[in-house]
Amino acid sequence: MTIRNNWTREEIAEIFNSPILELIHRAGTVHHQYHDAQEVQVCTLLSVKTGGCPEDCAYCPQAARYHTNVKVHKLLEVDEVVDKAKEARENGSTRFCMGAAWREVRDNRDFDKVLDMVKGVNDLGMEVCCTLGMLTHEQATKLKDAGLYAYNHNLDTSEEFYGDVITTRNYQDRLDTLEHVRKAKISVCSGGIIGMGEMEGDRIGMLHTLATLPEHPESVPVNALVPVEGTPLEEQPKVSVWDMLRMIATARIIMPRAMVRLSAGRVRMTLEEQALCFLAGANSIFAGDKLLTTPNPGVVQDKEMFQVLQLKPRVSHKEVVA
Ligand code: SF4
Repeated sequence: MTIRNNWTREEIAEIFNSPILELIHRAGTVHHQYHDAQEVQVCTLLSVKTGGCPEDCAYCPQAARYHTNVKVHKLLEVDEVVDKAKEARENGSTRFCMGAAWREVRDNRDFDKVLDMVKGVNDLGMEVCCTLGMLTHEQATKLKDAGLYAYNHNLDTSEEFYGDVITTRNYQDRLDTLEHVRKAKISVCSGGIIGMGEMEGDRIGMLHTLATLPEHPESVPVNALVPVEGTPLEEQPKVSVWDMLRMIATARIIMPRAMVRLSAGRVRMTLEEQALCFLAGANSIFAGDKLLTTPNPGVVQDKEMFQVLQLKPRVSHKEVVA
């Protein structure tokens, strides 16, 4: 199977809407072709600067304008972050992602501090990832020079639905940042969230945008909304596992080399449901009891899951060879 960047929405919709067991089987076949299906990448995500964000993402408890339980915290110290990364490495994580609740990166002392964090975590032999909001090409280059391996910048949803979720920036801003990251030769991590009130066509639309980028993202996180009290999406119903499976399996088929990450929402899934997601082509998870500010299964629970499903953690800096 060749890697394609010319998928049409119709082709993706056809895959997305195929009978669920057939879809999982097809995705599983592609997964085996490109990846060791027993291997799952374990990533840890740490919030290095929490809350007080000027943006208005309707799902996010860190937006300053919503009244949530999130406590604002200034940028952590470099040593503290490196210690957390060491702890994550001891618990089996090979990728360490640092998130800051910023609209965009500013060229100031905080950014210099983040560059030091990147250096420190990179020295531990881990894949370092950051999610800091919008970036210029120069800032992306500085991060790359400091040892940044990957940058996360989610599209969140389709271009058509984007304005229903976020009004303080637009879709093109997202795509511009992804381009700056790609040009700086940093691995791209970009995916989205389902369960925000979008239509099926929006899910397909987001997958279409990702799969028709000049190069597919190396990582595609698929998140199920975890509604947080005080945010505009607090009343959204739980995303069904079948909806997650359709997203994961379709992403696997149309972007075969990508690491498809089963991200937020895992805390509300049973082990059996997570096993189905791995069968459908997910091969990456976030470990640790918090995903920035939302709950996530703990390390012990995940160790048990790895044992029961006989999974093995993927080593860092491994290339997809197929
Ligand atoms: S998702 Fe990021 S940019 Fe949006 S409000 Fe939350 S912290 Fe800010």
